[in-house]
Amino acid sequence: MNKERITIFDTTLRDGEQSPGCSMTLDEKLRMARLLDEMGVDVIEAGFPIASPGDFEAVSRISETVKTSTIAGLCRAKDADIEAAAQAIEKAPRKRIHTFISTSPLHMKYKLQMEPDAVVDAIAASVAKARQYTDDVEWSAEDGSRTEPDFLCRCVETAIRAGASTINIPDTVGYAMPEDYAALFTMLRTRVPDMDKAVLSVHCHNDLGVAVANSLAGVKAGARQIECTINGIGERAGNAALEEVVMAMRTRPDAFPYETGIDTTAITKVSRTLSTITGFSVQPNKAVVGANAFAHESGIHQDGMLKNAQTYEIMTPESVGLVKSELVLGKHSGRHALKNKLQDLGYKLDDTAFQDLFQRFKVLADRKKTIFDEDIETLIEEEIGREKDRIQFVALQIQAGTRGPQVAELVLDVDGNAQNAKTEGNGPVDAIFRAIREIVPHPDAHLQLYQVHAVTGGTDAQAEVTVRLEEDGKTVNGQGADVDTLVASCRAYIHALNKLLTKRTRSAPA
Ligand SMILES: [Zn+2]
Repeated sequence: MNKERITIFDTTLRDGEQSPGCSMTLDEKLRMARLLDEMGVDVIEAGFPIASPGDFEAVSRISETVKTSTIAGLCRAKDADIEAAAQAIEKAPRKRIHTFISTSPLHMKYKLQMEPDAVVDAIAASVAKARQYTDDVEWSAEDGSRTEPDFLCRCVETAIRAGASTINIPDTVGYAMPEDYAALFTMLRTRVPDMDKAVLSVHCHNDLGVAVANSLAGVKAGARQIECTINGIGERAGNAALEEVVMAMRTRPDAFPYETGIDTTAITKVSRTLSTITGFSVQPNKAVVGANAFAHESGIHQDGMLKNAQTYEIMTPESVGLVKSELVLGKHSGRHALKNKLQDLGYKLDDTAFQDLFQRFKVLADRKKTIFDEDIETLIEEEIGREKDRIQFVALQIQAGTRGPQVAELVLDVDGNAQNAKTEGNGPVDAIFRAIREIVPHPDAHLQLYQVHAVTGGTDAQAEVTVRLEEDGKTVNGQGADVDTLVASCRAYIHALNKLLTKRTRSAPA
């Protein structure tokens, strides 16, 4: 018997990217979109095209890049929004227009300042307009879970009649509990004529920690599309996590006799890539992708695990692509071995980037006894797309310790010219950041985040540093890695600054 399919709609690049500090560059969005496409996401919501020229460009470039997934563009119930979305997704292999309007009394009165009848008219008009560009139109009732039931039925009926093939009922503010949320779907299925002509969809926020529970309750009550994000990123407390809803259904087929198109072995890689790009690390005890999600520390558990893994393991680490850290390469490994490793890890680098990577790998191998997959991945993450950066790190000397003052001597290559600075600071990191600011002044930018974590265990582990800068309300995240935490900090700051420079040129008037 063929199992019923649940559509996985990923909104990491829209709802997720919208959350404070999570903004991604165009290249980063393209990388994420490729990974989501490869992992089998059915629909990728790539952005909100009318929101900004950058959003528009991201949606249209993703539409050109992605091979299989449907690309959705979000728009309000306005002609200009719908036209922008239609234009942005034009080149996608499969296109969806996703239009929404608020339907709760509170939102209609204060946010929209529209009468309910006018909202119903806007639904009919917006869905019909969207249908001029594609047959695949999704309509969302913003704040749907707080909408008056009779009115919600009327809105849904209107949207279906106008041609919407997916009806999404978001719990926009994360207020619903699983029973209430499920009851909404049951109600729509019993009361709305032609409900069988559209797919019902869940979209849940995690303000009370029940986004995943609500999503699954919605599925049990007849929803067949789940809107979710990688690592559960999103506005405020975030959205339902893709990896959690997918693994819940996979691990409990008795409760959820459905299938998804997701290759679950891609989960770990996609999760890590997103954390690196955004600097939003995952809590260690997070379900499915946390560092401890598959760790068994207590003696009793370990004993059981050794006798039979199923005693304490409901899903295997391999099923989410978590393979044992392998000691992979050493001091004597050559270019060929590194190239093979890259292939295994699923990376393709151009020649310049590969040569740079090889140099850095040799340096690392001299300083670190054992090199794991994570080390190589971190180096690659650092290398991708940086060869064109205007500011390049050259050298750093630090004087630190209790006797003070701490001093940084820095050499950077800026547009092909070597430039030096020697600065004092309150601690070595402050001294380094001052030196960078002296060479490349950027007085309007503010440091929002400085975060360090160790890539592997051991005191010779590489440090991975994230630096977030904000300028004119725009944020960028930079990453740097090195066995020397201070060098990693310097690289991370420079990376963020390069992104800021790109952002400035992009937003400058033509
Ligand atoms: Zn949302």
